[in-house]
Amino acid sequence: MKMLYSGKAKEIYDIGEDGHILVKFKDDITAGNGKKHSVLEGKGKLSNSANRIFFNLISDVPNHYVRDYDETSFVAKKMKMLPLEVVMRNYTAGSFCRRYGVKRGIKLKEPLFELFLKDDSLGDPLICEDTVISLNITDKHTISRIHEHTLEINRILSEFLSKHAILLVDFKLEFGFGEDGELLVGDEITPDTCRFWDAETKESLDKDVYRRSIADPREVYRVLLDRIEG
Ligand code: UDP
Repeated sequence: MKMLYSGKAKEIYDIGEDGHILVKFKDDITAGNGKKHSVLEGKGKLSNSANRIFFNLISDVPNHYVRDYDETSFVAKKMKMLPLEVVMRNYTAGSFCRRYGVKRGIKLKEPLFELFLKDDSLGDPLICEDTVISLNITDKHTISRIHEHTLEINRILSEFLSKHAILLVDFKLEFGFGEDGELLVGDEITPDTCRFWDAETKESLDKDVYRRSIADPREVYRVLLDRIEG
């Protein structure tokens, strides 16, 4: 299969099907805009398993997931991506705490919708909706549909995870358009792109353990999967 693109954590292949591509999770993990990097055997398989579960759960929200392929990859719809990182937060953490000088773990009054410009060379800056519109990245109506889809995904995932005593602290989505122009959720939904905390101990079951050098991420990804699969 011909590789079309290799990113920090995934590779894209031409699968020879009209309108479809293959997305393969690598064993690579990065943090801090690629400053920290490791290759952890078996990590791609864990990400793919989590991604499969989460895309299955949100199947009513238009998205790119077509079907399972193998242990580390899935078939997806070809998309034209928007250069945005869409973040929703239920509790304070990460860049939100650094930006506003607030403590970690405070429950926000409402799920907060934030947009970031996807540009590594600029460090993915926060961008407001009016700027997105002024720069002609996308229009107001599309932003409001992205907001609605993100709220729906937050509702589905939070409800599912709470049954397993896990808090969905925040998560990042990427959106784009399928070949027929339909707005779709793309990219991945994994512990690399979400924050999950044990509801009781508040321990991280996500990439924060790697960002903060607390544990081998594979160990906590396994714990997460054992809890949500079981
Ligand atoms: N996130 C991501 N990719 C990024 C930046 C953030 O998937 O390039 C996710 C991150 O895992 C978290 C959420 O988006 O679930 C919010 O991240 P935050 O803005 O707090 O940034 P970070 O602490 O990762 O720098």
